[in-house]
Amino acid sequence: MPRALIIDGKSIAHRLRLEVAAGVAHLQRARGVVPGLAVVLVGEDPASQVYVRTKMKATRDAGMISLEHKLPAGTPEASLLTLLAELNGRADVHGILVQLPLPSHIDTRRVIEAVDPAKDVDGFHPINIGRLASGACTLAPCTPAGCVILAKSVRSDLTGLEAVVIGRSNIVGKPVAQLLLNENCTVTVAHSRTRDLPSIVRRADLVVAAVGRAEMVRGDWIKPGATVIDVGIQRVPAADGRSRLVGDVAFDEAVDVAGALTPVPGGVGPMTVACLLKNTLRAAWASSQV
Ligand code: NDP
Repeated sequence: MPRALIIDGKSIAHRLRLEVAAGVAHLQRARGVVPGLAVVLVGEDPASQVYVRTKMKATRDAGMISLEHKLPAGTPEASLLTLLAELNGRADVHGILVQLPLPSHIDTRRVIEAVDPAKDVDGFHPINIGRLASGACTLAPCTPAGCVILAKSVRSDLTGLEAVVIGRSNIVGKPVAQLLLNENCTVTVAHSRTRDLPSIVRRADLVVAAVGRAEMVRGDWIKPGATVIDVGIQRVPAADGRSRLVGDVAFDEAVDVAGALTPVPGGVGPMTVACLLKNTLRAAWASSQV
């Protein structure tokens, strides 16, 4: 049985990061501007600390300036908003990222809305979400943008494809659906209340799974030859007593049915950081033109 093409997110992300680094050098030569990304971390969540370190290193590796603001878990919301106002006003800061989740005493929505939309490199501000929904060129959320790049690495024109997105979060599912609509796919968004999910997924030429349930999508849900982008990341116990990372798709089954498939890890994950750098460069170019 032919096995699916394994979409190498690591190397696609690496190429994108090299392109961004070249773009950073070009911007510096052309306008004398070095892109700056400010990352704000509130609290000591271990996973968030790892994500922030990874993002900051990637920023520096691309030739950008990386500024870290680490605040204690008990930081009042007002202090965080004051910091964001200051970063919004700084000419050397082109991108602002507030690492989520925030401690429960802080209103995440208010914080997202406090970031200048022109510096919102996560693409979560309602203005950027509205622009995305209206088909305008904008700072798109990073993981969804990465999913689309991976899908287009298999087939550069997605026009007319039947796409099924499983998951409707504001961070992944909904923006992926918008981006795929902008690519002229016919998009279905499935969620926890969807009836007969397997038969809906079986229609899809392109599946994006963003659920957070280990190996939920089985091989026999997949249309032969479909492209499958697996956003999920879950740690599950392994046979040797240790643990392993898996996605939302049962990889060993899907690989014998799909035409192309992303692995976990090494698929969508690396694209998120690469797209963050791309957004930061884009924001810096835009600010240098005004
Ligand atoms: P959320 O928990 O916010 O959303 C999960 C979505 O899945 C919801 O819309 C939910 O439906 C839906 N869902 C839950 N159970 C089912 C089910 N049985 N059948 C169909 N749909 C279901 O998660 P996120 O979108 O933030 O993340 C999804 C996954 O992607 C997670 O594993 C996360 O770790 C991973 N992730 C990976 C990233 C990367 O860089 N690789 C970045 C971001 C996320 P409903 O709305 O009805 O509750």
